[in-house]
Amino acid sequence: MYDSKEIITCPACGKQMKKVNLADMNSSIDICLDGCGGIFFNNYELEKICKNEKNIEEIENLLKDKVFEEVDSSKTRTCPECGIPMLKHFTSEKQTVEIDECYDCGSKFLDYGELQAFINEFPNERERRASFAKHFLKAVSFEKTHIKDDNF
Ligand SMILES: [Zn+2]
Ligand SMILES: [Zn+2]
Repeated sequence: MYDSKEIITCPACGKQMKKVNLADMNSSIDICLDGCGGIFFNNYELEKICKNEKNIEEIENLLKDKVFEEVDSSKTRTCPECGIPMLKHFTSEKQTVEIDECYDCGSKFLDYGELQAFINEFPNERERRASFAKHFLKAVSFEKTHIKDDNF
């Protein structure tokens, strides 16, 4: 089973990440508020978050008007949960956003700005979900998660 540690060290800049509970979610995400502004989503949190615009707004509010450390997004990151290298992959055919993903635990790391870029790739919710399902969810070890894909 997936076991979340209390404090996560940012895979991009090494700072301690802050746990943030989103109003609409039962679980929390980790944001690198004192470092690079990256966001760590464990297991299926990214999928849950993207189903609700309010969550995205909330994250964006936390990140806006802040200056973050610049990091090299081409570097290989290490999963803070498993200690293994995360793999980079594009989230859609447009190939504008490349995120880091741990193929062991299914966690994803998005650099600062990548969440918005990810959202912006798709002109509407329906298209985003369709592409998300096609190019993204299938790339993760789907059976390890407990997502019901009735929304897709
Ligand atoms: Zn960071
Ligand atoms: Zn992992």
